[in-house]
Amino acid sequence: MTPGQFLGFVGVVVAVVIAIIKFRRWSFERTPFPPEWISVLSRNIPIYSRLPLALKNQLNRHVKYFLRDKRFYGCDGLVLNDEIRVTIAGQACLLLLNRPTNHYYKLHHILVYPSSFVAARTEQNESGVVSQKHTGLLGESWSQGKVILSWDDVMKGAKNFSDGHNVVLHEFAHQLDQESGSTNGAPLLGAQSSYQSWTRVLSDEFEQLQKQARSGYSSLIDQYGATNPAEFFAVVTETFFERPIQLRRRHPELFEEMKSFYAVDPSEWVE
Ligand SMILES: [Zn+2]
Repeated sequence: MTPGQFLGFVGVVVAVVIAIIKFRRWSFERTPFPPEWISVLSRNIPIYSRLPLALKNQLNRHVKYFLRDKRFYGCDGLVLNDEIRVTIAGQACLLLLNRPTNHYYKLHHILVYPSSFVAARTEQNESGVVSQKHTGLLGESWSQGKVILSWDDVMKGAKNFSDGHNVVLHEFAHQLDQESGSTNGAPLLGAQSSYQSWTRVLSDEFEQLQKQARSGYSSLIDQYGATNPAEFFAVVTETFFERPIQLRRRHPELFEEMKSFYAVDPSEWVE
């Protein structure tokens, strides 16, 4: 084979591979969204029925990709089924609507426990003494491509979409935060947001929540968010999606920053 023939052969192989990839993507896009999955979303996530049709279609598409790409594992005897997978995917993908997304590309594994699970945590006190503490958790997000969830609490969060608590939204907000390279409450912002105003507004609001937590005042935003800026972003995400009208009224600047970042206005779904 001459060099020219070899280059021609490589060109044909590359063209065939590209055609196969395009065909697979095209046929995947054309695969209809299973009606059973629509039933699960409608039954388990009441906010799904309130989404405008265009967003509902977008969500379905994201759910399809999510379920194709992520591996689920049942822990402590939990037997996985489509209800579990679709209920988790449906809530996780709410955070992707209207935004350029690669579907949590750093996330590969989702571990699901039947209920809250115990995790060992290493803690260091002020004198430098390190100890192991066992804590009950509803969910956990790891930077190494893993999210852990309690199925009981996934369902509680999905069914009650107005109490400001949602473990799936919380852990997947951490995943978005982690995509910037560090988990610090500063995710990669889209074209609609400015880093300057994001930093100013979120820092001020975080300090305010810390003050409220210290002085024992009540707050709309769960005071677990006062732990650190990463938890603040995750907790505010829960408030933004679940209590948008209250957040807009009591923290208008914070609401606007979240609206620019998430590119949706959840207050329109509940008003
Ligand atoms: Zn958290």
